[in-house]
Amino acid sequence: MRIGQGFDVHRFVSGREFVLGGVKIPHDKGLAGHSDADVLLHALCDALLGAANMGDIGIHFPDTDQAFKNIDSLELLKKTWGMVREKHPAIINIDATLLAEVPKIAPYSASMRERIASALAISADIVNIKATTLEGLGFVGRREGIAAMCVVLID
Ligand SMILES: [Zn+2]
Repeated sequence: MRIGQGFDVHRFVSGREFVLGGVKIPHDKGLAGHSDADVLLHALCDALLGAANMGDIGIHFPDTDQAFKNIDSLELLKKTWGMVREKHPAIINIDATLLAEVPKIAPYSASMRERIASALAISADIVNIKATTLEGLGFVGRREGIAAMCVVLID
């Protein structure tokens, strides 16, 4: 078995849809990025690639490539898992933590687990999503952006 971890940050900007864990969430701002800027899915992709010793998301999906502009990150997740599963066919479990002051994540976490599980063709029972605020501290506390951490175990 192999373990991988991922970490990602995106900043809030006006005029973008807010997509997190593959779910569109009503919010006055979205996240800036070349793709749909789904910070949770990017951390998960990096965790999968890390577990497989396959580099990181920037190597496989460079933000200079127009093919990935505004792409749905569920597509990046499917492509990532497609590469990883050739060598490591089973995901044991996924555990993610979102660092966000706003908005409240809990009402959407079940939908995020379902979206992720569906994209990976696994059970939502092995996908866990947690969220915490940073008590008003730092860039997350100032509501300037969101960070995500993810750990995955593959076999
Ligand atoms: Zn990202």
